[in-house]
Amino acid sequence: MAALRRLQKCQSSGITVISHLHTSSHVSANMHYKMLVLGGGSGGIAMGARMKRLMGAGNVAVVEPSETHYYQPIWTLVGAGAKKATSSARPTASVMPSGVKWVKSKVQEINPDTNTVRTDDGKEISYEYLIVALGIQLHFEKIKGLPEAFEHPKIGSNYSIQTVDKTWKALKDFKEGNAVFTFPNTPVKCAGAPQKIMYLSDAYLRKTGKRNKAKIMYNTSLPVLFGIKKYADSLWEIVKQRDLQINLRQNLIEVRADKQEAVFENLDKPGETTVVEYEMLHVTPPMGPNPIVKNSPLGDEVGWLDLNKDNLQHKKYPNVFGIGDCTNLPTAKTGAAVAAQSAVLSRTISRILKIRNLIKFMMATPLAHWSQATNL
Ligand SMILES: Cc1cc2nc3c(=O)[nH]c(=O)nc-3n(C[C@H](O)[C@H](O)[C@H](O)COP(=O)(O)OP(=O)(O)OC[C@H]3O[C@@H](n4cnc5c(N)ncnc54)[C@H](O)[C@@H]3O)c2cc1C
Repeated sequence: MAALRRLQKCQSSGITVISHLHTSSHVSANMHYKMLVLGGGSGGIAMGARMKRLMGAGNVAVVEPSETHYYQPIWTLVGAGAKKATSSARPTASVMPSGVKWVKSKVQEINPDTNTVRTDDGKEISYEYLIVALGIQLHFEKIKGLPEAFEHPKIGSNYSIQTVDKTWKALKDFKEGNAVFTFPNTPVKCAGAPQKIMYLSDAYLRKTGKRNKAKIMYNTSLPVLFGIKKYADSLWEIVKQRDLQINLRQNLIEVRADKQEAVFENLDKPGETTVVEYEMLHVTPPMGPNPIVKNSPLGDEVGWLDLNKDNLQHKKYPNVFGIGDCTNLPTAKTGAAVAAQSAVLSRTISRILKIRNLIKFMMATPLAHWSQATNL
């Protein structure tokens, strides 16, 4: 028994192995999977494929409501007119790994105490292991005047498939005035993207002979141009060379689209606002935790999925794991980070499965046969 206890907490990796799963719940659930993945974005699809290799076809399901899977990094190029929005889209069916079940539903509730998930179309799905990959939530509505302002021209956002083409239209139709790019007062996915569209717009306006008619400004909530000093130092050189005006600690709080006005609050002097007239406005919306995670016992105090950063296992529920933008991992929220995390998570789950198989074997094998069978 001491050997069993030792196996249940694998100290070297910090992994907790689950010895008692609630199995009664799957009797009442409509469906049951050994591995259930929530969200079929970058992290969910990557983990679906890895888990199928580890657990076999038929044992893994991905819950994702959208018929279309988007590769979001392309949206920066779509907003700058270098790619079509259609190039970022694939039918979800075509990216779902073969042998992985696609549950085309929206998750409404996660109940980790009963190992079940409820969907908006009334399904109850039980699981042995769960990977949460639900992404980050956009909050355009937290800026006064949005999202209605997108019905007007001259304003766009690369952060959504509904608004990315509007960025390109605003850039293409630019005549004369301010081109304004924003960065919100929250964590964001791909913190480089709000700036990349500014550099691409600058290049486009130069190419089309309109640059001398444009004042380009980057109004960011941050006290720095970029979070990593090494890159910020280089970027300061570039913005100087290209005559791009950087306004720090300026947070977009309102868009008056009928007047082409954007209102910014000075975060160092709360209540002090500046109204900027724009000929083009690119909005990076405020973002926050996925509400399904936030409203479950899986969220941390803010609502991000609460993970052990070394192995991507949930801090309280050892059969729950996570990946990507919905988590509180101390990495950037990017596809590149997801790629690195998927290898770590795969290793964690593979170890857990091996240890559990060994525990099962030891419990099923008379003590006298252990040393012979296992060389222990
Ligand atoms: C404009 C832009 C530019 C970017 N550029 C880069 C870049 O250059 N390099 C880079 O590495 N990264 C970039 N990124 C970031 C990258 O796309 C994300 O970090 C990555 O997609 C995160 O993967 P994820 O699986 O965590 O979330 P996502 O890929 O967003 O997937 C989340 C999935 O969960 C699903 N979902 C949400 N709620 C529910 C629910 N209730 N039930 C079921 N499913 C649900 C969604 O439909 C979605 O499919 C960029 C992003 C944007 C928007």
